[in-house]
Amino acid sequence: MADAPLDYVSDHLDAFDADLSDFLRIPSISADPAYAADVRRAADWLADHLSQIGFPTVEVRETGGHPVVFAEDRSAGADKPTVLVYGHYDVQPPDPLDLWTSPPFEPVVRDGQLYARGSADDKGQVMMHVKAAEAFYKTGTPLPVNLKLIIEGEEEVGSHHLAPYVDAHQGELACDVIVISDTAMFDQGIPSITVGLRGLAYVQVNLTGPDRDLHSGVYGGGVENPANALAKLIADLHDADHRVTVEGFYDGVVPLKADERAAWAELPFDEAKWLGEIGLTVGKTEKGYTILEATTARPTLDVNGMGSGYQGEGSKTVLPSKAFAKISCRLVPGQDPKDIAQKLRRHFETHLPDTMTMDFVELHGGQPVLMDTDQPAMTAAMDALRETYGRDAYFMREGGSIPVVADLKRILGVDALLLGFGLTADAIHSPDEHFGLDRYHEGIATVVRFWGNYGA
Ligand SMILES: [Zn+2]
Repeated sequence: MADAPLDYVSDHLDAFDADLSDFLRIPSISADPAYAADVRRAADWLADHLSQIGFPTVEVRETGGHPVVFAEDRSAGADKPTVLVYGHYDVQPPDPLDLWTSPPFEPVVRDGQLYARGSADDKGQVMMHVKAAEAFYKTGTPLPVNLKLIIEGEEEVGSHHLAPYVDAHQGELACDVIVISDTAMFDQGIPSITVGLRGLAYVQVNLTGPDRDLHSGVYGGGVENPANALAKLIADLHDADHRVTVEGFYDGVVPLKADERAAWAELPFDEAKWLGEIGLTVGKTEKGYTILEATTARPTLDVNGMGSGYQGEGSKTVLPSKAFAKISCRLVPGQDPKDIAQKLRRHFETHLPDTMTMDFVELHGGQPVLMDTDQPAMTAAMDALRETYGRDAYFMREGGSIPVVADLKRILGVDALLLGFGLTADAIHSPDEHFGLDRYHEGIATVVRFWGNYGA
């Protein structure tokens, strides 16, 4: 199948690069109101481009914030699956500008990498789907699947208008799978699909002892120090195996499957190199898990900030009245952010010394996500990656969260396929962001093959 579109892709790589560069020249910085007109210009550019290549329906839709670009083609027919492509055309601010080797909105190629803000995150990855569609349209090849695109302009500022928009347009956005290319592959030449994302539960613990800061010479020895009390509470949150001691913390956690662990063990993940890159020689994981497993597929509890007492230069013999800690847990499938926050609250209430009062605040939560690896779209994508790269692809998990994935899954009631071609070395959100043109081209060919396999 799809020989003509694949031939078209290999014959038009230079033109594809030029089109992506045009898109990248528009500084669609969603965070900065001074660039609002450019954000809209990027939406208009994308909509025009989609119309030009042959999409029958293309619209720039208002959301209350930056617009979304919607496009669809249902010509494959009701007996073929429908793919919804989600991506974003907005970009991170480029600051600090002086750390860029070349200006962020003047794309240039160095050593096969296209340097520009948004090249990998996410304009380059959005354009893989656009160019795949072009390859079908320009060769007169019928699309093997029905296509819907929703490309938003607020991803880098929290996607606040996206969930309400999708909620209000559920019928129009109905699909069999959501495909998102906004993640990384395992490594150069090692294709992978992200099938798990961790969630988050974030709380703050505020302890108060005496009602004012005290002189440690006058009061020291007679009262409990909130900093000491909080340090003890925090130290007791892990046991000797570096497992979290909060009662019920691991309840419901979906255990890693043996085949999953075996596949990851094959990957060229060098723990010493990984540690060396952050200035360490020794890591710390939950007992029985590798660093790769512990950073992507196991839950964590970490202090993200703490404060108490005197913070200035030199010494001050204060006995503080208050101490606080900001604590977050990365969550895995089977855990729920609200439930974990409540278990943390109960833990601190139970262990709080009677010398202290506590104010416990739940700050933020996000659901973990785990995809069904047996769904037809997954198989079609794994086959497409194998055809493009000439080797098997891996199911990976990511340690971070992508809140929009959980939202889209929940509202539309279908699974997501995270088909990413980024690399952690792409410097997204940093100076000198870049995207390998080889990966851009491989991504286009993979999307062509994926649609063919999925619609077959
Ligand atoms: Zn992104």
